[in-house]
Amino acid sequence: ASLFSAIEMAPRDPILGITEAFNADKNPAKVNLGVGVYYDDNGKVPLLECVRKAEAQLMEKAAPRTYLPIDGLAAYDKAVQELVFGADSAVVQEKRAVTAQALGGTGALKLGADFLKRFSPNAQVWISDPSWENHRALFESAGFVVNTYPYYDASTRGVNFAGMLQALETMPAGSIVVLHACCHNPTGADLTEDQWTDVIRVVASRGLIPFLDMAYQGFGDGIDADGKVVRRFADAGGPLFVSNSFSKSFSLYGERVGALSIAAVSAEEAARVLSQLKRVIRTNYSNPPIHGGQVVATVLSTPELRQMWEEELAVMRVRIREMRQAMVQKLKEKAPGQNFDFVVRQRGMFSYSGLTKEQVQRLREEFSIYAIDTGRICVAALNSRNIDTVVGAIAKVL
Ligand code: PMP
Repeated sequence: ASLFSAIEMAPRDPILGITEAFNADKNPAKVNLGVGVYYDDNGKVPLLECVRKAEAQLMEKAAPRTYLPIDGLAAYDKAVQELVFGADSAVVQEKRAVTAQALGGTGALKLGADFLKRFSPNAQVWISDPSWENHRALFESAGFVVNTYPYYDASTRGVNFAGMLQALETMPAGSIVVLHACCHNPTGADLTEDQWTDVIRVVASRGLIPFLDMAYQGFGDGIDADGKVVRRFADAGGPLFVSNSFSKSFSLYGERVGALSIAAVSAEEAARVLSQLKRVIRTNYSNPPIHGGQVVATVLSTPELRQMWEEELAVMRVRIREMRQAMVQKLKEKAPGQNFDFVVRQRGMFSYSGLTKEQVQRLREEFSIYAIDTGRICVAALNSRNIDTVVGAIAKVL
């Protein structure tokens, strides 16, 4: 028998499976709402103008491609840390924060998970119910037991905050709590500022370890508004892990640009943390790739390019909002008995639409409109040309 003869086929990734089925569909009116990518109004993944300009500058320099330091490009780490915590924040000013370039948000989560497994091996991890589907797999593959805390309430189409808070209040000290900083994936339902106040208080009083995943900064209410929760956690003191990603906010999916930031209590502690984080990186992939990090560092640290980025990100954010409003408005006309107002309250690229598995199936089979079985749709895949088709089809399956 071969070494591999007993290996079973791994289950197919459900989301990639939808894309395969979509690609094979010959209906010219087909729409893929199953993706996790921002498309512009022409249905294209944008290449941002600020990225194009930064790339032109970098090409002009034609610098040799040496290895980056283990923790990445210093200019990138600095710019990202200031973006995530705020340049004038106490953690940055007191040099208590550590930031390492990572392979996207996923890579940042994996670094954080591996680091935590080394230094807090018996802790358990808690993720929201539901959460981004890779959270569980990532922390389990790092060796953790992964539990869920209540989050989505289908009856209100919002957050079951009482349930969430109660779960936090009963977790053992040292538990690792993964929280979506903004634009919750998959539901689109975020906490209010007051609810965050309660979460921050309970996390501190019970000695929990918060791990904020910020994959969509700038897609909710703006760069600063979305980042505020990170700053509030940092101000509360205590250990803090933050993974962030530029996949969406820079439309740089394939460049794998993200970072892991850790807030410590002193500069001296931060130096020890960084030294150990570097070992985690060294034994994973040695050091990160150079191009995406250079592009982001160039944009963030060049005032004109940064201004351009903020404007381009605002265009993406506003377009998603407009699609939410258009969807609700059009559904009011086509399905008058139904209330979809919650879609406007949701934040980020996704919406838990409330569509059932059967309705999602009918959308696929009868209308070539592809969504996730849970009812999650990507609002950023709607545009002025496909929205009438989509809304018309939803009205028919309701
Ligand atoms: N966290 C969440 C909540 C996500 O939705 C995603 C993916 N979109 C990631 C992390 C991973 O980001 P990346 O694609 O940069 O690895």
